[in-house]
Amino acid sequence: MHHFARRDGVLHAEAVDLERLAALVGTPFYCYSAATLRRHVGVFRAAFGDLDPLVAYSVKANSNLAVLSLMREEGAGADVVSGGELRRALEAGVPAGKIVFSGVGKTREEMAAALDAGIFQFNVESENELSALGEVARAKGAIAPVAFRINPDVSAGGHAKISTGKAEDKFGVPWTRAREIYARAAETDGVRIQGVDVHIGSQIAALDPFERAFNRVAELVRTLRADGHEIETLDLGGGLGIPYGEPENAAGDPPHPDDYAGLIRRIAAPLGVRLIFEPGRLIVGNAGVLVSRVLYVKEGEAKKFLIVDAAMNDLIRPALYDAYHAVAPVRDCGGAPQPYDIVGPICETSDSFARARDLPPVNEGDLVAFMSAGAYGAVQASQYNTRPLIPEVLADKDRFAIIRRRPSIDEMLDCERNPVWSKA
Ligand SMILES: *Cc1c(COP(=O)(O)O)cnc(C)c1O
Repeated sequence: MHHFARRDGVLHAEAVDLERLAALVGTPFYCYSAATLRRHVGVFRAAFGDLDPLVAYSVKANSNLAVLSLMREEGAGADVVSGGELRRALEAGVPAGKIVFSGVGKTREEMAAALDAGIFQFNVESENELSALGEVARAKGAIAPVAFRINPDVSAGGHAKISTGKAEDKFGVPWTRAREIYARAAETDGVRIQGVDVHIGSQIAALDPFERAFNRVAELVRTLRADGHEIETLDLGGGLGIPYGEPENAAGDPPHPDDYAGLIRRIAAPLGVRLIFEPGRLIVGNAGVLVSRVLYVKEGEAKKFLIVDAAMNDLIRPALYDAYHAVAPVRDCGGAPQPYDIVGPICETSDSFARARDLPPVNEGDLVAFMSAGAYGAVQASQYNTRPLIPEVLADKDRFAIIRRRPSIDEMLDCERNPVWSKA
């Protein structure tokens, strides 16, 4: 559920009129709803009740400092995948004791920064990473709390580019070798085994893959304990999907967090571990829209194109994953729907948001909103075609705040120089 709805025919973010907002901040822009963000954290947490897990919000889904601060206010921690994200989480006031660090390619500098901060857990993805982490920690006289990310070799369904739990994926250590790897970690100075971690992918629309993966890691927790390891935490990752409103999926919306929690209660509660989750998309996906203005309506040979001022550099999901975003005219003037191809101004055929999408008649200058654009939208934006990163706006009841401003072209050019040569 989200707080984007029409009032007198005009789409609002909570009580903020998106047409008025567009006039004030200029298009294109992202707009997030604070009430929706709060609600999603609350629903997720409530689903687990007295299990009281650490909800480590996956920063990569939407890393705006204001969003992270709001998460912190709601009691969430952070799952970070880079030194930059660690810095953001700390800057937003997330306590280090609620931060976990994931990712296959942590650098030694990033490890050092995380050790200095005193984060809760390193999710280690290979034996060589463990060796590096041990070295970095020993050099500081620190002890790194670690869990290994287990690759359970299950297929999560969904798009291959966001599946992470198959044996052929680059993520985690093979579950078949976990005992051997934990035994080695127990012998490694500078690290302390604290848990087990798994994350099998994103936009997962069924419980089945979770069930297979979680059963596998629960069994592993028992085995590792029998081997003499102290396993206190079990990080079950993120990945629970959200409804994007695809018509072809009408029968198959992703499971509700309550059902997901029911499954976990059955599998993981008997283990008596501290549970950790890393939800990203579930929290922010439906809490954001991308608002764009129609530049031109172009009558092609066979179809009508809406050329809008947003492009694949602002929201790459359709181009990258063939993702579906529902499109809504910001002001609905009625009229019989007709099919439009909705495209951006970039010189690539992949710069397309939707094909043959039925919309009420749209005119030049009208606004359209790409719905469910809060996750993996702004964070994946680039400056391709020297298009400035677009503003992010947070709506809260009848107020709004610009939480990322649009840079000027001058600022964009500022890091570049004509060569002043040096010898290496
Ligand atoms: C991306 C990612 C997440 C978040 O996934 P969502 O599908 O957004 O919930 C969680 N954990 C790890 C390790 C990730 O890479």
